[in-house]
Amino acid sequence: MSKKAICPECYFEFEVDEGVIMGEVLTCEDCGVDLEIIEIGDKEVKLQLADVEEEDWGE
Ligand SMILES: [Zn+2]
Repeated sequence: MSKKAICPECYFEFEVDEGVIMGEVLTCEDCGVDLEIIEIGDKEVKLQLADVEEEDWGE
């Protein structure tokens, strides 16, 4: 059984494995952003954009 997840960036809906854990980083299958799991429910997980080092935000 899998859980439902929605990308906060593009609202693409996809499924994740039941065995996912908090803090795990997934990649949105649609827009390609890295998404960190912040909450795991019975049927769905909540995601937030993960911190990525690719962009240079200035130091
Ligand atoms: Zn996305």
